[in-house]
Amino acid sequence: PTRGELLLDVKAVRKEFGGLVAVNDVSFTLRGGDIMGLLGPNGAGKSTTFNLITGVLGLTRGEVVFRGRNIAGLPSREIARLGVSRTFQHVKMVPDMTVLENVALGGYLRSKAGPFGAMLRLDRDEERRLFSEAEKQLARIGMADKMHELAGNLALGPQRLMEIARALCTDPSLLLLDEPAAGLRLKEKQALAEVLRQLKAEGLTILLVEHDMDFVMGLVDHITVMEFGTKLMSGTPAEVQASPEVRAAYLGT
Ligand code: ADP
Ligand code: MG
Repeated sequence: PTRGELLLDVKAVRKEFGGLVAVNDVSFTLRGGDIMGLLGPNGAGKSTTFNLITGVLGLTRGEVVFRGRNIAGLPSREIARLGVSRTFQHVKMVPDMTVLENVALGGYLRSKAGPFGAMLRLDRDEERRLFSEAEKQLARIGMADKMHELAGNLALGPQRLMEIARALCTDPSLLLLDEPAAGLRLKEKQALAEVLRQLKAEGLTILLVEHDMDFVMGLVDHITVMEFGTKLMSGTPAEVQASPEVRAAYLGT
C-alpha cells in the first residue's frame, strides 16, 4: 500500500453477545503508513473490535473494507492471507520451545493445511521456509540473539516482541496489536516503541490497542477512543488529550 492510501475502512461494525452490545456501530478509517491508537477503559469493546476486523468473531452487522474489499465475515486465515495480522492480548506461546520454534509455529497454525494437517505432513521444504522466515523476522526486530532461548525464560517485554515477530511472518501490510505494552517495565516499553517506529518507517500500518496514554501519545498519528462499545471520538493525540469528554470517560477526571 502507498502512504496515505485508505487502507482500512471500518463501517458501523456491531457485535452483540446475547443482550450485550459489545461494539455499537463503530466506524473509523486507517491510512497507509499511519499508527492509530485504539483507547478506552476496560470493557469498552477494543478487543472485540480487533476480533471483528481479523475474523476471529463474526459481526452482527457492518462492513470491514480492507484495500477496497469487504473482508467482514471471511475466515481469519483468509484475512491473514490478504495482509492483516495480529497479536492477542494474552501472550500465546509454548514456554518450553525456543523463541525461533514459537515464531515458526505461527506459520504452521496459519498454513493452508491447518495446524494438524501441517504437523502430520511435515513437508521439509515448507518447514525450512517457515524457520528461515521466523529467523528473518526475529532479526528484523532485534531479537536474533534470543532466538535459541526457551520462550518461557524470556521476560514479558521480549515475549511481546516474539509475538510481533510471529505476526510479521505472514508479511502483513496491516498489523493489529492488542495491548502490547501492558505490564511492561519502562525500558521494555521504550524498546517496544522503538520497534514500532522502525516498522512504521518500513511502511507498515499499525492499529494499536493501548491503555498507557503516555506510551500512545509519543507514538501514534491518530487516536480513536471507545467507551461502552461506542466511539467517543477520533483525532490527533493533541485533540484527544484536550477533549473534556475523553478526560471524563477515560482518565476519570
Ligand atoms: P476491551 O478489550 O475494551 O477491554 P472487550 O472487547 O474485551 O473490551 O469486551 C467488551 C465487552 O464485551 C465486555 O463487556 C465483555 O465482557 C464483553 N465480551 C467480550 N467477549 C465476549 C464473549 N465472547 N461473550 C460475551 N461477552 C463478551
Ligand atoms: Mg481487551
